[in-house]
Amino acid sequence: MTFVPFCGYYVFVASLQQRLPENVPGDFFVDSTCIDCDTCSQLAPAIFRDHGDQCSVYHQPDSEAETQLAMMALVACPTGSIGTNERHDAHLGIDAFPMLLEDNVYFCGFTSEDSFGAWSYLIVRPAGEGGNILIDSPRFASQLVKRIEAMGGVNRMLLTHKDDVAAHKLFRDRFNCERLMHADDGASRLGVEHVIRGEEPVQLDDDLLVIPTPGHTRGHVVFLYRNKFLFTGDHLAWSPARRTLTAFRSVSWYSWPEQTRSMEKLLSYRFEWVLPGHGDIHKDDAQTMHDHLARCVSWMKTV
Ligand code: SF4
Repeated sequence: MTFVPFCGYYVFVASLQQRLPENVPGDFFVDSTCIDCDTCSQLAPAIFRDHGDQCSVYHQPDSEAETQLAMMALVACPTGSIGTNERHDAHLGIDAFPMLLEDNVYFCGFTSEDSFGAWSYLIVRPAGEGGNILIDSPRFASQLVKRIEAMGGVNRMLLTHKDDVAAHKLFRDRFNCERLMHADDGASRLGVEHVIRGEEPVQLDDDLLVIPTPGHTRGHVVFLYRNKFLFTGDHLAWSPARRTLTAFRSVSWYSWPEQTRSMEKLLSYRFEWVLPGHGDIHKDDAQTMHDHLARCVSWMKTV
């Protein structure tokens, strides 16, 4: 991914020669380096779509708001696969991250190819309340790092599982933050400071709980914050097609029956947001979310 500065603007250098034929004509395009992580289609669904095993532009931005969303997707793309024919101010996308979701919880953007474009999140808290928490790892991009620093840095880094650790060591070195991860996903090998073991939930702060959820990987965990935000890694996500919560059978690397059992455990918790690494975010009232989760568990038992 290369930005070339020009008169205070930036030209995104993408491979026009590799422009996918599925793109509609016009300014924005996706090239053949796309790894189909779906970040762009989730972030800007009015512009990008998954046309099969890659994404492409199906509607060119025709307003300032849409142009900003397309630029945010361009910045968030892990592989620099989104390009433009025209010049745009890259700060339209860069300055939008971290992007506020609700309260003090942000989506970091700037996904990393090392985690296949997994989404990461930032909880912003005063130092007196324990400081900021980074959940899973974004790309270690200088623009993002500076913005996180201006928001108070990172005091703790929580890792849901081994696939989404990406630049964890660079963030650790930059912010001197403590990392947390489950032993069964190789936490010790990665040099993680706070290693979780077993299957019992661990209360980190009054309003922050670690819940082991083996299944996708053996040491997968989810994080419940304020009984409102559930950071689910690759355990649980929203399915826009089925309009309910879902899990990914084809990438349940450790054990689908275990993942089903782990999902059932989550029925005893209350939350309003599902914030995954891969798959769609969803927000609902706690009762409706519980109903969706119960439906997901029933479905998992049939697959
Ligand atoms: S964000 Fe980039 S890699 Fe991911 S689907 Fe879109 S174009 Fe492809």
